[in-house]
Amino acid sequence: MLVSAKEMLTKAKAGKYAVGQFNINNLEWTKAILLTAQECNSPVILGVSEGAGKYMCGFNTVAGMVNGMLKTLNITVPVALHLDHGSYDAALQAMEDGFSSVMFDGSHYGIEENIEKTKEIIRIANEKGISVEAEVGAIGGEEDGVIGGGEVADPDECKMIADLGVTMLAAGIGNIHGVYPENWQGLNFEVLAKIQEKTGTMPLVLHGGTGIPAEMVKKAITLGVSKVNVNTECQLAFAAATRQYIEAGKDQQGKGFDPRKLLAPGTEAIKATVKEKMELFGSVDKA
Ligand SMILES: [Zn+2]
Repeated sequence: MLVSAKEMLTKAKAGKYAVGQFNINNLEWTKAILLTAQECNSPVILGVSEGAGKYMCGFNTVAGMVNGMLKTLNITVPVALHLDHGSYDAALQAMEDGFSSVMFDGSHYGIEENIEKTKEIIRIANEKGISVEAEVGAIGGEEDGVIGGGEVADPDECKMIADLGVTMLAAGIGNIHGVYPENWQGLNFEVLAKIQEKTGTMPLVLHGGTGIPAEMVKKAITLGVSKVNVNTECQLAFAAATRQYIEAGKDQQGKGFDPRKLLAPGTEAIKATVKEKMELFGSVDKA
């Protein structure tokens, strides 16, 4: 059964480790992540962006697939199904369709409107026992044409949003989505420390986990990060393994064109990436 992310993240914050959010795109992705979480005896958060949700035929289809796998694969570790960077309408829809956690990304609104909308999402989520992630300080990405550092959140604004009763808080500390540019300045630990000081036990979320050096991730965890989002890294691993399979001509040998064979190396590559991240985040055997 799907669970909210609240308990797993409260434990992570207290235990000074982080739970990984791994974004899913299809059946192979979902199966690979769930099997690895079970194998590692680790809690896990499955992230679904609005775009990926549409691609997979809607949140209801995604929830159906995930619930089916939990049962058939005998997954007993805590699993949360989480909307990643949801708009207000998408957050309402995901809660309606069986997601156990939502992120409402109101970072592009002014702080007043972000607060009003976040409050309303929290009210509905509380009725259903769903966890809510909010964001302060937009996290940049290639699509926004951001080169260099991402935006840095204002610790006082973080405190205002945290006090609304969100479950976990994403704050920009120079992290960005996608592949980091060469001239990236690194994470702003000074701001992270201030945010933690102001928000106390609130689990903090680090977006854009791909390409942040392991030592920086570990340091961020010691400063209160309890959830790390990983998306691009699984995509790169999947693409590289699939390319290798095809370049080696394996799809043209015997029944190598069978999608169950063609997609297998990519699926295994996702498993290896997820395992590596769970070890880095310290969530192994924390289920
Ligand atoms: Zn993000």
